[in-house]
Amino acid sequence: MSEGRGQATSVEPPADDDDVPRYWRDLGLPGLVDVHVHFLPPRVQAKVWQYFADGEKHYGVPWPLAYAVPDEERLATLDRLGVRAFPTLPYPHKAGMAAWLNDWSAEFAESHPGVLKSATFYPEPEAPFYVAEALDRGVRIFKVQVQVGSFDPRNPLLDPVWARLEETGTPVVIHCGSGPLAGEHTGPEPVTGLLERYPRLQLVIAHLGMPEYRDFLDLAERYERVHLDTTMLATDFTERLMPFDPADRPRLSDLRAKVLLGSDFPSIPHAYAHQLAALHRLELGEEWLRAVLWENGARLFGLEVP
Ligand SMILES: [Zn+2]
Repeated sequence: MSEGRGQATSVEPPADDDDVPRYWRDLGLPGLVDVHVHFLPPRVQAKVWQYFADGEKHYGVPWPLAYAVPDEERLATLDRLGVRAFPTLPYPHKAGMAAWLNDWSAEFAESHPGVLKSATFYPEPEAPFYVAEALDRGVRIFKVQVQVGSFDPRNPLLDPVWARLEETGTPVVIHCGSGPLAGEHTGPEPVTGLLERYPRLQLVIAHLGMPEYRDFLDLAERYERVHLDTTMLATDFTERLMPFDPADRPRLSDLRAKVLLGSDFPSIPHAYAHQLAALHRLELGEEWLRAVLWENGARLFGLEVP
């Protein structure tokens, strides 16, 4: 058996959401850090959920939403699950929207503990200004959505933004793979070009770049600060549509310090516990799970153990 694979663990995967705290406790963790959670202004959230409700039309399969409930209930769910830190990851689908999303997100983070202040940007002349403002007010993480925003991350309007973020090292969760939906600018090429110009960017590749996992594993191996988030990786839904090749598991094991738990809560077609069980069944061992579910995120965001 190759390195890091098939490692024995006596810890049982979580059976359901109620069982999640037992799971991280058995692993010896103080909770979870989830780098891919969304909280959006109510009107925007409603539109996103409407899109998923038409899942059959957009994805060819239904996308039942397990957590389409008001903000306060979702915050209580994360608290019960033991998610100690999480962002809100706003993203615009057009110009003129990002600054407003950033204001809303800053206010949300200031009024709720455990929330990592989040912001976004779009290729528009104002971007360097509202990104600077976001950094001034203590934003910990940015989100970029190449498919929904339908832009090339190498757009020259974003040059000053990337230059600044390379300097600050602020993590940027970037949805850039072609799954579950391909876009004009998705796939490894634009991000590869971006990293050639800004090799020190602290990028977090959302969904591990699905379905182009292999190309994004290459980037994480090549660039010191490129991370990968696990959002929907190895879940039943993804394994049906965009399976992860078991032959690449040793690479995932070797990248242990750069893989971060992500879930896409609340817009997921399964229980939160299923994401954890899906990572568990990759059989990469308890050390790997501890790094991914807590340690890497805690380090990236400078969290104190509660
Ligand atoms: Zn997402």
